[in-house]
Amino acid sequence: MRLRQLEIALQGLAGFPQPQAALEQYTTPATLAARLLFLAAGHGDLEGRTVLDLGAGTGVFACGAALLGAENVTGVELDPGALAVARENADRLGVEVEWLEGDVADLPEPVRGRLYDTVVMNPPFGAQVRHADRPFVDAALAHGRIVYGIFNKGSRPFLLSYIGDRGECTEAVAAELVLPRSMRHHTRDRVEIPVEVVRIRSRLA
Ligand code: SAH
Repeated sequence: MRLRQLEIALQGLAGFPQPQAALEQYTTPATLAARLLFLAAGHGDLEGRTVLDLGAGTGVFACGAALLGAENVTGVELDPGALAVARENADRLGVEVEWLEGDVADLPEPVRGRLYDTVVMNPPFGAQVRHADRPFVDAALAHGRIVYGIFNKGSRPFLLSYIGDRGECTEAVAAELVLPRSMRHHTRDRVEIPVEVVRIRSRLA
């Protein structure tokens, strides 16, 4: 599948029915999600691999990973409303994903003992709840050999010092997260947030 085809497939997916600010529920725009997924595919981290999507939301990454040939995809998400949409999105694309309701800080049973080839995530940036991204980073390093995540531009030094010797960053690609106005506290019609797509190799896994 080509990049453009993936973007179009992901563009057609449904978003959050009622985005919750406290959970930082923003659907990753199709272009940025496709970019992260193609970065992973280019490293051989998707096709035939087991993939875990942390904070799967409405399933953009999980569905995209399945479209790109991941052998086995699991999505974990706290919000059952988002998961219901994710299920419909996967059905619409005709892909199979194991959806699990649960907290990344206390992973559901089927994930606990497992190690995945690849973790994908767009964790909360901690704009609402300080350090909300930390349990995501912890879970990713513990359960994935390779991790792809989207982080605020400029936060890499903090991320790396938080990771410490648990992992190493092997690549960081600058990108932009363009969000349409989706919540009441937004004052502008769209916001552009400079971000980085980061690839981390876990030393725990
Ligand atoms: N991966 C999706 C959603 C990103 S938004 C996408 O890229 O479009 C972040 C998601 O993490 C939201 O769906 C939110 O509900 C979920 N989330 C936030 N804290 C969580 C936690 N502790 N455990 C599991 N999911 C969580």
